[in-house]
Amino acid sequence: MSRIAVFPGSFDPITIGHYDIVQRALPLFDKIVVAIGQNSNKKYLFSLEKRLHFLDRLFEDEPKVERNAYKGLTTDFCKTENANYLLRGIRSSADFEYEKTIAQLNKDLNPAIETVFLMSAPQYSHISSSIVREILLNNGKVHQFLPAKIHEMMVV
Ligand code: ADP
Repeated sequence: MSRIAVFPGSFDPITIGHYDIVQRALPLFDKIVVAIGQNSNKKYLFSLEKRLHFLDRLFEDEPKVERNAYKGLTTDFCKTENANYLLRGIRSSADFEYEKTIAQLNKDLNPAIETVFLMSAPQYSHISSSIVREILLNNGKVHQFLPAKIHEMMVV
């Protein structure tokens, strides 16, 4: 059975920290589905189409990475993708507490799905999509927080 992981998130936008997690997880899985979860209560800076486009461009040369979007429960989405693993990143103890709750809930919802955590690389542990959005909205520079391909797509 192949090892398929779903990496769920908002990716609004995808940052160099997210990208690093995917790169480091690649040797562990046969396929990683980077999946944009759509929450109707959340306001996004980038449209779903734009965020999917970012993912297409970023992983265009990586055959083991697919991208998708979903509504509803992440565990239900995992079923549709035949995924037995959820991939998440942890930057801090605050992330840990939050991620622990979500992982335990997901385990209750579907015991067949194992959540795998990768610790953020120290140089990226302060980077979040929300910080990038805040800087963008205030016309600051964000190149050091984004993969080069994503930054290029923002400036053109
Ligand atoms: P969500 O809205 O589900 O938190 P995000 O797009 O903000 O979605 O994050 C998706 C996942 O990536 C989460 O597990 C988050 O902890 C992780 N993550 C976000 N930024 C980083 C980073 N700089 N380094 C490592 N992991 C990160």
